[in-house]
Amino acid sequence: MFDVSFIPAFKDNYIWLLTRGQRAFVVDPGEAGPVIARLEADGLDLEGILITHHHADHQGGVADLTARYRPQVFAPAKESITGCTHPLAGGESIDVLGQMCQVIAVPGHTLGHLAYYAPGALFCGDTLFGAGCGRLFEGTPAQMAASLDSLAALPAETRVYCAHEYTEMNLRFALAVEPENAALQRRVAAVAELRARQVPSVPSSLAEELATNPFLRCTEPAVIAVAQRHAVEQGKALTDTGKVPVFAAIRAWRNVF
Ligand SMILES: [Zn+2]
Repeated sequence: MFDVSFIPAFKDNYIWLLTRGQRAFVVDPGEAGPVIARLEADGLDLEGILITHHHADHQGGVADLTARYRPQVFAPAKESITGCTHPLAGGESIDVLGQMCQVIAVPGHTLGHLAYYAPGALFCGDTLFGAGCGRLFEGTPAQMAASLDSLAALPAETRVYCAHEYTEMNLRFALAVEPENAALQRRVAAVAELRARQVPSVPSSLAEELATNPFLRCTEPAVIAVAQRHAVEQGKALTDTGKVPVFAAIRAWRNVF
């Protein structure tokens, strides 16, 4: 299995660096500068790039990196990705530094969004965040809820390498949804302590997300109840308390929180 470390980019992006000896892959290089600096400093050879979706802060560095290193570029077939050499739809297995990784289609944030899973590690771009999930720019609530379900079904010990440091902000909303959730209260304290020392809150574990992330908890009675209460406050009624309408209600509330 490869080692994973991070390269900070922009204000709050993480570009994940996968290494095995001097061989390297990066995930979602939104900018090339910090990646090149790290590759040069560590004497690494960039063999591949994994792209989760087409947003500029996830693929903006690909052109400069491919010009310099000639890596394989794995990316969603459905989306326009600079320099893509391996278009993927989800369901494939790909070789990442000698480790087979599963490609999972997770439409919602964008329609072609992919996640990459190796045993113990999930690279999920802007689909699942620490204590949150991505905005629905292109997909429907039903698509995103199904995508989150497929990630939630992975082993609980899986580390969740999302693409942004949004956890602390997301936890404020999570606490508004479930103020009585003790695991969530503990996570709020733990993340505040990490962030005060400027330590990343990412990766979390899937177990932690299942216990504290409101978007993975849409069948919990407490979450359903608060979604209904919030709907009433908005002058609406949430009569269908199935997973998708509850997810849609919570996601819409998060957009204006
Ligand atoms: Zn995005």
